[in-house]
Amino acid sequence: HLPLSVPIKLPNGIVYEQPTGLFINNEFVPSRQSKTFEVISPSTEEEITHVYEAREDDVDIAVEAAKKAFNSTWKTADPAERGKVLYKLANLIEKNAETLAGIESLDNGKSLFCARGDVALSANYIRSCAGWADKIYGRLIETGSSHFSYSRREPLGVCGQIIPWNFPLLMWSWKIGPALATGNTIVLKPAEATPLSALYVSQLVKEAGIPAGVVNILPGYGKIVGERISRHPNIKKIAFTGSTATGRHIMKAAAESNLKKVTLELGGKSPNIVFADADIEKAVSNIIMGIFYNSGEVCCAGSRVYVQDTVYDKVVQAFKESSEKLKVGNPFDESTFQGAQTSQVQLEKILSYVDIGKKEGAKLVTGGERIGEKGFFIKPTIFADVKEDMRIVKEEIFGPIVTVSKFSTVDELIEMANDSEYGLAAGIHTIDINKAIDVSNRLTAGTVWINTYNDFHQNVPFGGFNQSGIGREMGAEALDNYTQVKAVRIKI
Ligand code: NAD
Repeated sequence: HLPLSVPIKLPNGIVYEQPTGLFINNEFVPSRQSKTFEVISPSTEEEITHVYEAREDDVDIAVEAAKKAFNSTWKTADPAERGKVLYKLANLIEKNAETLAGIESLDNGKSLFCARGDVALSANYIRSCAGWADKIYGRLIETGSSHFSYSRREPLGVCGQIIPWNFPLLMWSWKIGPALATGNTIVLKPAEATPLSALYVSQLVKEAGIPAGVVNILPGYGKIVGERISRHPNIKKIAFTGSTATGRHIMKAAAESNLKKVTLELGGKSPNIVFADADIEKAVSNIIMGIFYNSGEVCCAGSRVYVQDTVYDKVVQAFKESSEKLKVGNPFDESTFQGAQTSQVQLEKILSYVDIGKKEGAKLVTGGERIGEKGFFIKPTIFADVKEDMRIVKEEIFGPIVTVSKFSTVDELIEMANDSEYGLAAGIHTIDINKAIDVSNRLTAGTVWINTYNDFHQNVPFGGFNQSGIGREMGAEALDNYTQVKAVRIKI
């Protein structure tokens, strides 16, 4: 039998206790069937630990706990009390920041530099949600003197949340923050590749004073736990982040079961544009942050770079030189920019796209190779002289691979940039504010970054156009996805 926690020594020297059980009703418990699965470190390919694997019957128990907590405490709690415990949770995340960053680097393979950014944004976002908790308003509606009419925003109930492996802690915070602030309770499934941080912060959830049953965490597989969550009759809403294919499947399951509400944060193939008048040095640094940050495992990665023809050769050369200077390797080395890809499957998928790109006739400017034999490391890879119908330009690769295309006029650029089934984000580099605003208005994208990229703030909404998603996360918009409007009309 697996103990419910194991001591782990992180490569940065921190020793901590890692919970391994399912988190239900504020307790760590073994799964009903006592199955476990292995968690490996992508940077060493060695086993970190096993954790308990939830199955359908565990989902049922967690949903029951969440339903009870919703009806007995959380739904009717003073919103200020909900805010108070969320503030405490944000502070506890900050107090545990170095441990959490280390867990993310160990489990996901990302560099400490990236992991620290995730932890900071997670704490900021939970704090932002804490502030929203007692600022959820309905409306008084003028309907003449014969009636008194008003609306109120009510929570939905038990929410199912399924998150991916690229930002395990950050996605946990984007999901639980708005759900809890608005009075919902949750059953969340972390990705099978990266369950450790969600289990670690469950201790903080309890310590912060969040009542039993409000937050339930079930590590396990998508096809078992994810499927049960998506189809569960007592789950009222599902929030998912991951691939477009799985998002489509979940939406179908939600529709076929009980028409649960759905928000989806899906894939992307986002254009990052450099105009000839841009500050080239800054633009190159932003396109590097756009594609190689978090090893390219970013849904809004700027994976299609568009450069105006007169500066194309200069930008490609500067991009190549800067990319070759990036330090790739041990995520715990303070100077590492790019750590490991998160799984062998992902590594192989990315390398297969290198072959596809070469076969399609694109010019490999730099990279394209695995680094070493242990750990899933890949060189930052740039393809230039691409054609817009190539698979490497069309399909989401989800790794440190970027294509660089040439454009001459704004109209030509808009046509190329918008020619995608996705629409998550876009970047524009120019010193001409009129052009920046005109182009940003014409781009099909949920977020447009101007003279920056992958630049998030907890108060700014994020989400996709087209097949990149439904609904928004962060900002005031995220709260709308966790409440429903009740209209009340009183005859005087
Ligand atoms: P995925 O979308 O299948 O997995 C994401 C989450 O969904 C995981 O927790 C997984 O367990 C769960 N899941 C899988 N099948 C499910 C099902 N039938 N029902 C309910 N939940 C289910 O992604 P993946 O297979 O890990 O990666 C494949 C590709 O997806 C990647 O190469 C990448 O292109 C893309 N991806 C995108 C994002 C993003 O943030 N947009 C994140 C991860 C992966």
